[in-house]
Amino acid sequence: MLRTHTCGELRLTDLNKQVTLCGWVHKSRELGGMTFIDLRDRFGITQLAFNLDWDKNMCELARKVSREYVLQITGTVIERQSKNKNNPTGEIEIKVTGFKILNEAIIPPFTLEDETDGGDELRMKYRYLDLRRSVVRKNLELRHRLAIETRNYLDKKQFLEVETPVLIKSTPEGARDFVVPSRMNQGQFYALPQSPQTFKQLLMVGGFDRYYQIVKCFRDEDLRADRQPEFTQIDCEMSFVEQEDILNTFEGLMKYLFKSVKGIDVPDFPRMSYANAMKYYGNDKPDTRFEMKFVELNDVVKGKDFKVFNDAPLVVGICAKGAAEYTRKQLDELTEFVKRPQIGATGLVYARYNNDGTIKSSVDKFYTEEDLKKWAAAFDAKPGDLLLILAGDEEKTRKALSELRLEMGNRLGLRDKNTFSCLWVLDFPLLEWNEGDPNLPESMRGRWVAKHHPFTSPKPEDIEKLKSSPGEVRANAYDMVINGVEIGGGSIRIYNKNLQATMFEVLGFSKEEAQKQFGFLMNAFEFGAPPHGGIALGFDRLCSLFGGADSIRDFIAFPKNNSGRDMMIDSPSEISEEQLKELGVKLS
Ligand code: ASP
Repeated sequence: MLRTHTCGELRLTDLNKQVTLCGWVHKSRELGGMTFIDLRDRFGITQLAFNLDWDKNMCELARKVSREYVLQITGTVIERQSKNKNNPTGEIEIKVTGFKILNEAIIPPFTLEDETDGGDELRMKYRYLDLRRSVVRKNLELRHRLAIETRNYLDKKQFLEVETPVLIKSTPEGARDFVVPSRMNQGQFYALPQSPQTFKQLLMVGGFDRYYQIVKCFRDEDLRADRQPEFTQIDCEMSFVEQEDILNTFEGLMKYLFKSVKGIDVPDFPRMSYANAMKYYGNDKPDTRFEMKFVELNDVVKGKDFKVFNDAPLVVGICAKGAAEYTRKQLDELTEFVKRPQIGATGLVYARYNNDGTIKSSVDKFYTEEDLKKWAAAFDAKPGDLLLILAGDEEKTRKALSELRLEMGNRLGLRDKNTFSCLWVLDFPLLEWNEGDPNLPESMRGRWVAKHHPFTSPKPEDIEKLKSSPGEVRANAYDMVINGVEIGGGSIRIYNKNLQATMFEVLGFSKEEAQKQFGFLMNAFEFGAPPHGGIALGFDRLCSLFGGADSIRDFIAFPKNNSGRDMMIDSPSEISEEQLKELGVKLS
């Protein structure tokens, strides 16, 4: 080894030791006849000391190096005059006696400090430099720890880690596939897995009983802050289980991760039906760090002269505790917020329940103080509270109010990153009618699509409604939600060939299409498939949640930007005529 110690490990107990360290020049400064260099590696920072009086040449050499030079130094551990309590090595320094420049470095395009002056794109272009920043490195260390502890837990529970192929055939999971042309089978394409769904089910048919894999998945979707075209899942499947067993096993995993990685004891996860999540939060992944539940007001507000409420299929609101003193300006901001096209409400009605017991609303023209008292009672509001009400079409209004609720949660400081509120959302509908979601392939529009995926089993008591009223069938499906983020989802699977065939029929596949695309799975079900079910947890999201960040990007070593581009290697990129020809791919 080129070193005897790392830059993070020397302490006062090492005084007078002869050591050799390697690392990068983090910073240097001159102080009279002294020069100090902070030498950095993955493990920490150690101060190097040079003195004109100790060794003039060495000191002059030290003055020549600049930031990010790579050094190897030898010296003696001595006690520091002015100690730095914030650095674990801050009580010692190295009196340098041997000095070698291992490599020079040009000045980095942004500062490699915790608070950097580099913008996102620049940092991504020079990701290898960004990785030298301790905040980014710590995120990846957290990722590593979570992966290790996940393996520890699942190994103890007798799960086997099995790799599944990356070059596969398209499986519909609600997104577009990335495809890879095959040179040996011209005109044919592999697809990259959106998840190993069918393979893990086939592993169950293969008798593996308990499978997991920390695995890359690929989805060609429009990107958002928390989406990447390639991402990682903790993918799991179990045989001979019911929903309850999966919930217990993976609630157990999450509790274990919180305890072992963050030292936090999380209580048992409450369970909420999809129907209630939508009714009380307008969202199938409610942030339950705070209450502020929806209150429906149709019975309370209709029948006066206010046309907007009278005509609306739904009038629904939230009560923001202690926000009655919001200024006109703040209320106008909230109105603007709900009217933004992404939110889509036409307006916002508010009522302040003042501390003196009076109530004033933005629709005083239509409602007496007595009417407003009834509103307050419906919300169980107290003096000092602010009522915020939206009206309109059921689905849109709930969605908009959900956004407003989250916004109020932010404004009132109710969404603390160090508080964790976990729950299960259960009883999802099996199917949803897809009118024209531009995120879905053309072929999936204007028909029923699987809400989860086509392999999810209906609740046994709802099977008879599959053909007559598909929209009413509930699924044996569940989502794990933490702080308003869908951390994972899964289901008990169909394992009967005929039921699977019916499902494809309801989804609009002809017999031939279903056989062509999924024959391999349905045939496998004829050879004794065990009852099975599973779940997949979004590993990048889990890391960012544990790291208290909103974006998953800083928890991925080499992420892509919002256009799906790797800024560092400049990909995607064109390929040569020769490559295209070999692949038999023609560009029009
Ligand atoms: N394959 C599913 C997904 O990626 C998870 C599952 O059902 O286990 O969402």
